[in-house]
Amino acid sequence: ALKITDDCINCDVCEPECPNEAISQGEEIYVIDPSLCTECVGHYHEPQCQQVCPVDCIILDDSRPETQEQLLQKYQGLVGHK
Ligand code: SF4
Ligand code: SF4
Repeated sequence: ALKITDDCINCDVCEPECPNEAISQGEEIYVIDPSLCTECVGHYHEPQCQQVCPVDCIILDDSRPETQEQLLQKYQGLVGHK
């Protein structure tokens, strides 16, 4: 999953771009729900939120390393529950 750093300026550009609705406004800055973020695997070739963020504050969450296979499984799980 990806995460949003303190550099977030609360511009709200990323939130509507997420195909998994993993992004929401937190108490101080926008936040990504790691259980919903597939790094856009299954939807796009590149993380859409990173593409649109004007201050490049969306980065890989090193504390939650995931393989492409795991991300794909997460995607399939999310789609299956819809
Ligand atoms: Fe959503 Fe994709 Fe960004 Fe994850 S990488 S938060 S799935 S837009
Ligand atoms: Fe924050 Fe970047 Fe999302 Fe804007 S696009 S709300 S700066 S994470």
